[in-house]
Amino acid sequence: MKKREQILDVLSAPRIENGVRLCDAPECRGHGEFRAPKSRDDLNSYFWFCLEHVRAYNARWNFYAGLSQGEIEKQLRADTTWWRPTWPLGSRAGTNDPSNVDYGVFGADNWDQERIRTGQPEEAGWRPRPGSVEAEALAIFNLDAPVTKEDIKERYKALVKKNHPDTHRGDQKAEERLKIINRAYSALMACDDI
Ligand SMILES: [Zn+2]
Repeated sequence: MKKREQILDVLSAPRIENGVRLCDAPECRGHGEFRAPKSRDDLNSYFWFCLEHVRAYNARWNFYAGLSQGEIEKQLRADTTWWRPTWPLGSRAGTNDPSNVDYGVFGADNWDQERIRTGQPEEAGWRPRPGSVEAEALAIFNLDAPVTKEDIKERYKALVKKNHPDTHRGDQKAEERLKIINRAYSALMACDDI
């Protein structure tokens, strides 16, 4: 058993190996391919887990209800066994069933729910590394990988139209949105792998 401090380190900073983000579960060597909100209070901050561990976290989501992000991280650190697959994976009964989670008002957007449920292998095609600039850009475009440059261009056109200065004259927020959209677009177009 590793020291508590080491586990704390693992949880507080992403581990990158060969440019790939590893699962946030302590000592797991799996790739962090599934995101999960850090808490109900902060749905824009994510842990990145492998399938096994996103399911484990998912199964505890109800248990964490009412806890702040800090409290959840404290729980994760305090309970050094949370990431071990001791829950009945595949069981359809009880609160450990990953498909029996109350996502409340947050909807599916903050979870890779369908993929978590089915454990579907990823489709062929380009997908961004979790936590990368390209991943963030895709999230801004509200696109799911795999995508092509054509998909991105199409969405870009629609977003520019929606936030165009001509239809939002003097709207500071629309201007800001457009800047963010343009930055995301540049990042994706600059990526040679797409
Ligand atoms: Zn893992």
